[in-house]
Amino acid sequence: MTVPVAWHAMRLVFLGPPGAGKGTQAQILVGRFGARQISTGDILRRNVADGTELGKRAKAFMDAGALVPDDVIVAMMEPELGAGAAFILDGFPRTVAQAEALDAMLTRLALPLGAALQFDADREVLIERLAGRWTNPRTGRTYHTLFNPPRVAGIDDEDGGPLVQRPDDARDVVAQRLATYDAKTKPLIDYYARRGLLQRIDGLQPIEAVTADVLRALGDRAA
Ligand code: AMP
Repeated sequence: MTVPVAWHAMRLVFLGPPGAGKGTQAQILVGRFGARQISTGDILRRNVADGTELGKRAKAFMDAGALVPDDVIVAMMEPELGAGAAFILDGFPRTVAQAEALDAMLTRLALPLGAALQFDADREVLIERLAGRWTNPRTGRTYHTLFNPPRVAGIDDEDGGPLVQRPDDARDVVAQRLATYDAKTKPLIDYYARRGLLQRIDGLQPIEAVTADVLRALGDRAA
């Protein structure tokens, strides 16, 4: 499918609850358009694995399904944004304070956002998706035992690396992550709607149908 996606429209924010498909769609767009996926969750998990100061600070919040404090996240994102003109922000911002900080950083860099895409999905579906999710901890690429299985169980199709289940995808932590999303992140839907940047995507559809909707939404904005 050819969609006239303008380059500036590839500065995107992906919003939505955990399991709605933000990371999967971000990886697909990266493959097609070469934009950079900046996933705060992936950056944090790498820091935890490497035992950095940032990782040590973040770990307890992540294990509990809570948000890492805004000042930590904003300081972590500042150097990331300057590095390239086109990007997909996957999992950031997650609070109104983070969204305001992002606006200020992008204004300073003269890099306006193209759109904010909100991926919607039902709670039961999210829980089921997260329970079956397997991730390559090196690349952040995800699979699902039922909906998007790897060719060989436990092995990434692309780089042959091992797949793991994220500890925070355990049922009790998922419930907390969804509650955190409702309380802290949902207000961003209004935040971006008021700025005329919001596009809503039905994240319940099969992966390819969601991608088609994403490309349509971006094409519409670029037209
Ligand atoms: P994710 O992989 O996006 O689901 O993120 C995993 C965990 O990392 C979240 O449950 C939070 O604890 C933390 N995290 C990721 N992004 C942010 C953010 N923008 N603000 C605060 N905490 C975050």
